[in-house]
Order: sequence, then C-alpha cells, then structure tokens
Amino acid sequence: MRERADEPARDPVEEVERLRARNAALKEQLDSMRGLAMRDQLTGLFSRHYLTDYLEEKIQEASREANTVLALCDIDDFKAINDVRGHQSGDIAIVCIADILDDLAGSQPVIRWGGEELLVVLFSSPDHEALRLCDRMREEVGSYRIDDGEGEFTCTLTFGLSSYDPNLTFAENFARVDRALYHGKETGKNRCVFARPDLDG
Ligand code: GH3
Ligand code: MG
Ligand code: MG
Repeated sequence: MRERADEPARDPVEEVERLRARNAALKEQLDSMRGLAMRDQLTGLFSRHYLTDYLEEKIQEASREANTVLALCDIDDFKAINDVRGHQSGDIAIVCIADILDDLAGSQPVIRWGGEELLVVLFSSPDHEALRLCDRMREEVGSYRIDDGEGEFTCTLTFGLSSYDPNLTFAENFARVDRALYHGKETGKNRCVFARPDLDG
C-alpha cells in the first residue's frame, strides 16, 4: 500500500475493507463472465466451454455408475439452406432446432458443439431409451415448420449415438459418436445410428 507524500495517511483497517470489497466485486464480475462463456450466444444452449470445463469430468464419473449416452446430431444439407434462404434463415433454423431438442431433453444437457452440430448427453439412460428419445427429437424437428419471415421450410437431423466407455478418453468416446453420425450421413441421412464395433473401422 504505497502513499504519495501529499496524500493523507489511510486508515489500514479501512484500506483492508476497501480492498476486500473491491476483490468481491471483481470476483462477481469474473463469475458472471464465466457464466456467459458457459452459454452459446445464438441458441442459449450450453457452450463447448461448459463441456470442457465441467461436463467432461462429470460424464467420466457418471458413466462408471450408470450407462451414459452421447448423441451428436448435425443438420442435413444445411449448406443448401444458407445458400438458398440466406445465413439469417440458417441461424433461425439452428435456434428452432436447439429449442426443440432442449425441450425434449428435459434436464439432460444439450450443448452447441459446433456450427450446426448439437450434442445431447443422456445420463443414466439405457441405450434403447436414448435411441428412442433421439428418434423422437429427429421426428419432431423433421415435422416442424420453421418460419423465417419469408416463408416456411423444414430441416432434418442425423444422429450418431454411443454408450460412454469410462475406460476411454472423452475424445475417444466422441470419435465413436462421430463415426456413427458419419455412417448415418453416408446411408441416407435423417436417421439415428448407434455406434457398433464394425463402424469403428
Ligand atoms: P450434411 O448433410 O452432410 O451435414 O451437409 P451440410 O450441407 O449440412 O454440410 P455441413 O454439415 O458440413 O455444413 C455445415 C454448414 O453449416 C457450413 C456452414 O456454412 C454452416 N454453418 C455453420 N455454423 C453456422 C451458423 O452458426 N449459422 C449458419 N447460418 N450457418 C452455419
Ligand atoms: Mg456439420
Ligand atoms: Mg450438416
């Protein structure tokens, strides 16, 4: 605590209080910034930061206790929507789809993994239930008429799913999901594919 010669000496007790209050305000600011970083700005879904900073560890732990399923979906032929209707309509589609998935997922987390790829984490969920839920999400999205102000259009989703293996890393587990999604894209899109050893190549 340095003082200039022309400043009156500060009461050390008051100074400690002042610094304490300043620290508390800074901590609050930091917490609020962290909170913002945990959410995706466009959709309000959890961000990838939330996954890497918090959820990955939770998934790793939870999957030792009960079956946990990762489900990654990607909007089919989305480039064409951007090209034909414009980027803003594409954004509207992402927001609508995010809302539908978040709604159907209930308390399970939905993360905006990337541009038009959303990841659903299904804790304590048997494989067949996870598959059924994702199929429901796929059907709801496919039948929802998105309105961009110029007209209505629909989008479909392809899902890749895999049961989380706690003996593998998150990246290794994710690679399985991604391969299942890729298989779904290669075999006609608008479908859910559960990872199988023969897809792992
Ligand atoms: P596929 O069925 O194989 O998924 O075909 P696709 O055309 O959807 O191909 P892909 O998934 O590779 O393309 C994603 C496109 O999504 C490319 C990019 O321009 C667009 N995109 C990514 N993020 C956003 C976004 O935030 N808003 C909009 N409007 N477009 C985005
Ligand atoms: Mg994509
Ligand atoms: Mg796509």
